[in-house]
Amino acid sequence: MFRSNSNSFWYLRGAMKQTKYISVILPLKLEWEPCYSVPEEILKEGIKTGDRVRVPFSGKEYIGVVSSADVAAETDPRKIKDIFSVERDMERVLPQEIELWRKVAEYYLCTVGEVSKAAYPTGKLNLEEARANAISKVRLRKEKLAESIRTKIERLEARLARKKEAAEKARKESTRMSYLEETRALEDEISMARAALEAVNREPHADLDGPKHQEWTGITLTEAQKKAFGQIKCGFASDKPVLLDGVTGSGKTEIYMMLAHEVLSEGRNVLYLVPEIALSRQLEDRLHAYFGERLITFHSGESASSRRNAAEQIRRMAGGKDNYIVLGTRSSIFLPHHDLGLIIVDEEHDNSYKQDSPAPRYNGRDTALMMHQIHGCKILLGSATPSLEELYNCSAGKHVLVTLSEKYHGSEDADIEIIDTKAERRKNGMTGNFSRRLIEHINRTLESGEQVIILRSRRSWAPVMQCETCGEIVRCPHCNVSLCLHKHAAGGRMTCHYCGFSSSFTGRCGKCGGNLNSLGAGTQKIEEEAAKLFPHASIARLDGDTAQNKSYETRTIKDFAEGKTDILIGTQIVTKGFDFKGLNLVAVIAADALLGMQDFRADEKALQTLEQFRGRCGRRGSKGMFVIQTSQPEHPVYRRLMEKDGSGNSRELMLERKDFNFPPFSRIIEITVKDRFEDRADRMSARLAADLRALLEPSGCPVLQSMVTGPYAPVVDKVADMHIRSIRLSLKKDRNLASSKSAIMAAVHKFEKSQKYDGHITINVDPS
Ligand code: ADP
Ligand code: ZN
Repeated sequence: MFRSNSNSFWYLRGAMKQTKYISVILPLKLEWEPCYSVPEEILKEGIKTGDRVRVPFSGKEYIGVVSSADVAAETDPRKIKDIFSVERDMERVLPQEIELWRKVAEYYLCTVGEVSKAAYPTGKLNLEEARANAISKVRLRKEKLAESIRTKIERLEARLARKKEAAEKARKESTRMSYLEETRALEDEISMARAALEAVNREPHADLDGPKHQEWTGITLTEAQKKAFGQIKCGFASDKPVLLDGVTGSGKTEIYMMLAHEVLSEGRNVLYLVPEIALSRQLEDRLHAYFGERLITFHSGESASSRRNAAEQIRRMAGGKDNYIVLGTRSSIFLPHHDLGLIIVDEEHDNSYKQDSPAPRYNGRDTALMMHQIHGCKILLGSATPSLEELYNCSAGKHVLVTLSEKYHGSEDADIEIIDTKAERRKNGMTGNFSRRLIEHINRTLESGEQVIILRSRRSWAPVMQCETCGEIVRCPHCNVSLCLHKHAAGGRMTCHYCGFSSSFTGRCGKCGGNLNSLGAGTQKIEEEAAKLFPHASIARLDGDTAQNKSYETRTIKDFAEGKTDILIGTQIVTKGFDFKGLNLVAVIAADALLGMQDFRADEKALQTLEQFRGRCGRRGSKGMFVIQTSQPEHPVYRRLMEKDGSGNSRELMLERKDFNFPPFSRIIEITVKDRFEDRADRMSARLAADLRALLEPSGCPVLQSMVTGPYAPVVDKVADMHIRSIRLSLKKDRNLASSKSAIMAAVHKFEKSQKYDGHITINVDPS
């Protein structure tokens, strides 16, 4: 009696006061969007979907995003909490952004909150700070520009003075026509520069690069490029994504810029995705020359405040007359894009588009395809070594394939020489890690004033250290891997590349006190050896260690581009996208490290890396040289590399994938269990695998080719004191895929709850 009374009272109260309820996305791993009520004084000022609100949640305060500004109270309204405030100085999240979060969460089996957190990494957006930063950036650029104009004026004035002085000396000169013309031209130029300087100083937000569309100097495409350009536009007309399969050096970038220019002139915006920061640095200059202030660069590694700056710039352009082109790595997908006309995904095959941790474990390329649907914009994927996934999409008619097989400078592919290091060692042909042949090639290249890049895929001085007395290998106390030796000015440190543990290097075995010897060499040691072998060459290194220092990285790339460095040594980072005109020899040392990974993608990846690396050299007409040092010269990857016919290779790889039912013929989901206790990791992963088998293989045999493998211990089965077990699900790609996926997610969540095992399990869709 009492209950029903009070019940009607709620509704009465609700009806009288018309309480408004909203649902909110919180930046947490939450499977639901909690409901809040809006106090009257806030309601008066209005509240909308996308607003950022400060709310209480399990004893803490969060800033969330209103996902619906009008919902029905789903529980006892007395239990529903009020929001604290609407953060009016934070920009509203756009509906397309929330739609993208939902799609990403659904596809990658994570929560919308986790995606929102990736999109808005910090709680509070300090708009004042963002504005201040943007303004100071403009001011800085303005000062630079004014400075350069001043120098120009000085130079012109000096020239004019010299001319006049010379004319004074030879009196008759001063009446000559050419002299008059020249001085007049100089004077005109000076007064124009003065006017420009004044304009810069007068207008605080003047468009510093002059009138926008005038700076577009235009690109003249070659016949082959024109043809591809036309085919791309035909593809766009069909509303399908287009894949540009263009050999290295074919001028894909030129085509991208042309397309971007067109879209910008139509008044729409462009998102230009690149896989890696290092790569985008060189591209940034190229694009800036064309697009000036319309170019916004955004890297994943950048701080929350630069993210805010980029977002602020993009928002400022909304509704205005300005258009933007964002050049960025995968996370720039989550900027507040509006009026998108085109997305370019450069080097679409690249693995660094995939985020492995934390959730959302998304792939930038595939998420860009989701954006194409949401924004209804064009999308162009480009690569010299397209992923099998993309080629499959093209052959299935879902995407349009455009090929460009002519290099711009007309140079042929670099010649390949494979050197068998085992055989060389037997013949005493190796000096450290350099074979006789490679040394010859390097010397010859240096003598002709050209440059060399050497790839060694492991950073450090030595990746493994072993005791010469007891054979013990120095291991990380927290991970199941060996420690790598890094040499520094102050000595050396043994470092774990997985958990970051490090200890100072004593040179002695911790077990028996014997001497430690290095097994193998990392980039640091290769650099040391190269310095001895080529004492007159200037040498630089680029790898994960040097990348910590961004200005060093930028300078190193710039120096190499300008020919100030002769030899560049690095990890995979040096194989990608760069355009160095003086580079004529590329070499891989210990190429074996690229092969033989326990992964169905291993060969495809190795082939892509080698092909990309080969494409870095001989880009200016001369034929380059590609030297590969390996102890497995008979590996099929090399045969495939030597074969001219790239599409034949893809066909072969595709058949293998089909035979084994690997992607793109199936979808793989990797479920990882991590636990401090090894026995519990075993027990829990076995139980979870049994649950998943019951779900996907109810009759004991795979239903519709869905398969559960594992649990098994991965190659590195302990990291940071956590034992790791994996379960691999292979799902058939059919109409049931989406529902199977959500059933899997539900099963995992149920398992977490029933076993009280929260925080130990991660789900990775399409692992790289
Ligand atoms: P890709 O990205 O396909 O490997 P790039 O776009 O880097 O190739 O082009 C290789 C080189 O050729 C670059 O230095 C580029 O400036 C030049 N290039 C390509 N196309 C043109 C063009 N139409 N006009 C002028 N230079 C071009
Ligand atoms: Zn470790």
